[in-house]
Amino acid sequence: MLIDYHMHTTFSADSVVEPRQAIERAIEMGFEEITITDHMDILPAEIHDDTHILDAERYFPTLESLQKEYQSELTINIGVEVGLNPGVLDLCSNFVRSYPFDFVIASLHRLNCQSLRNQEYLQSFGGKAGLYCTYYQTLSELLDGFDDFDVCGHIDFIRRVMPYQYESDDYHIGREIVDNLLKKLIARGKGIEINTSGLRHYSHATIPHLPIVSRYHELGGEILTVGADSHRIPHVGYGLKEVIMMLPSLGITKLSTFKQRQVSFHQL
Ligand SMILES: [Zn+2]
Ligand SMILES: [Zn+2]
Repeated sequence: MLIDYHMHTTFSADSVVEPRQAIERAIEMGFEEITITDHMDILPAEIHDDTHILDAERYFPTLESLQKEYQSELTINIGVEVGLNPGVLDLCSNFVRSYPFDFVIASLHRLNCQSLRNQEYLQSFGGKAGLYCTYYQTLSELLDGFDDFDVCGHIDFIRRVMPYQYESDDYHIGREIVDNLLKKLIARGKGIEINTSGLRHYSHATIPHLPIVSRYHELGGEILTVGADSHRIPHVGYGLKEVIMMLPSLGITKLSTFKQRQVSFHQL
């Protein structure tokens, strides 16, 4: 089954894809089901940054009307990617509970509310290993305080923006922290996503690395979604067919979909 569970449209400040364009591209590519997951990154009031505040009052009616219009061609779900930050987790929960989302991704886009574009800041964690570990640890701690999500987004996303050379065995770094994080997710009935945006990066590897996905599976994790994290039309669905076809070679035989926050499993 061809699905994409991570897509951004013009409801995200960093996407140039109109919702209709995303839908038409997905249909053209033969997708059966998509979930639009625009950004909602709440920051503490003192930071004065509302760049990624989702206009849910406009989001729902727009997407609901497209759902109806395209219902015979594509299943469209309404999701959100919540960017976690310290001090605002209750606001994130209130937001998610206030709207009838089908699916919620919890992601980490900042460290201590600082932008990951700030390369100088990223260099202050004692090198590559220190930065990876800080990212994993921060994600793990924020998830401990937040329950209104279905899957944890792009677990090793830091490697896409870090000021260090990526190496294909980077997944060895911080393994204990990642193991702990995965075990906690599994115990709470939460999933992870395989984000193919890493295939567009020079590392040409999914986010997280496949060994982390295999580890989640090995530890008993069953809830797995896939998404291309598209912000431009050519990235819609990018790499998903190949990744889905490859999953059985990792022993993974099921993919998850969500409707009104309820998971369903699909045999590959
Ligand atoms: Zn993200
Ligand atoms: Zn995203």
